[in-house]
Amino acid sequence: MYQIIDGKKISQEIKDELKDKVTALKAEGKSICLAVIQVGSDPASSVYVGNKKKACAYIGIESLAYELPEETTQEELLDLVRKLNEDDKINGILVQLPLPKQIDEKKVIQAIAPEKDVDGFNEKNVGALCVGSKGYVSCTPLGIIQLLKRSGVEISGKHCVVIGRSNIVGKPMSLLLLRENGTVTICHSRTQNIKEITKQADILIVAVGKPKFIDESYVKEGAAVIDVGIHRNENNKLCGDVDFEKVAPHTSAITPVPGGVGPMTIAMLMYNCVSSVE
Ligand code: NAP
Repeated sequence: MYQIIDGKKISQEIKDELKDKVTALKAEGKSICLAVIQVGSDPASSVYVGNKKKACAYIGIESLAYELPEETTQEELLDLVRKLNEDDKINGILVQLPLPKQIDEKKVIQAIAPEKDVDGFNEKNVGALCVGSKGYVSCTPLGIIQLLKRSGVEISGKHCVVIGRSNIVGKPMSLLLLRENGTVTICHSRTQNIKEITKQADILIVAVGKPKFIDESYVKEGAAVIDVGIHRNENNKLCGDVDFEKVAPHTSAITPVPGGVGPMTIAMLMYNCVSSVE
């Protein structure tokens, strides 16, 4: 029988631990403030921003919302980021992605002071992860490590295969697994004989961005499978990159969609905010 890794429960545990930490920090006279910038009114982004604000309120972190119009220029956004960088009251700055086309996302991410970059996207933080120094780590992969650890899935010495090499998920995921002493293989769209590789995985992390891409023919019997994908199917229901029904019986542990990786991303954003003060 396989274990369904419960991201809802684990993320709630983490948020409760953080709430206690914030209460203790407040008793020492320290407070935490996150600036959340949204440009335009993309409905999906508004939902994500709303959930982040809710999580802040639950944990005791102050959140300041900056809602800018769709036609905001790059210079206007950069000016705001620079102002927040210099504001001692602000511990973390989050710019909700994607940004409108007239704005270069890379430039904006690079403009955020590395010590306030709680998303962990700034090149300084990515570099720190690469060389094993302290820094913020991208929240989704950081959450996946917590899911594995808190579900009793051993990483050290295991063959971990990551499908996807994006800057936000695949690459930092691979580096984190390496940091945990996994033996890591990264697959992408040019990988040949991908099934031969994924079938060797003790831990298979799927961040391919294609609904139900992975069926049982990709998975070794007894592997742990983590599904990062989020999609809406033809019935408007959420599904992942993994065909859960087909794959789950062949695994030792698997994350569902929804209720797996998704809830961890915000919990780890809160974790990064709290560590900015600790
Ligand atoms: P992405 O930037 O589109 O990257 C997808 C990766 O998959 C790329 O590296 C691509 O390879 C690879 N790929 C595409 N087709 C492939 C194939 N046929 N065989 C092997 N590899 C293939 O996506 P992402 O931002 O990493 O996100 C991945 C998924 O996770 C999406 O569904 C996204 O919505 C979801 N997501 C969820 C959360 C969460 O909080 N749960 C957070 C972030 C993302 P190339 O590099 O060669 O093109």
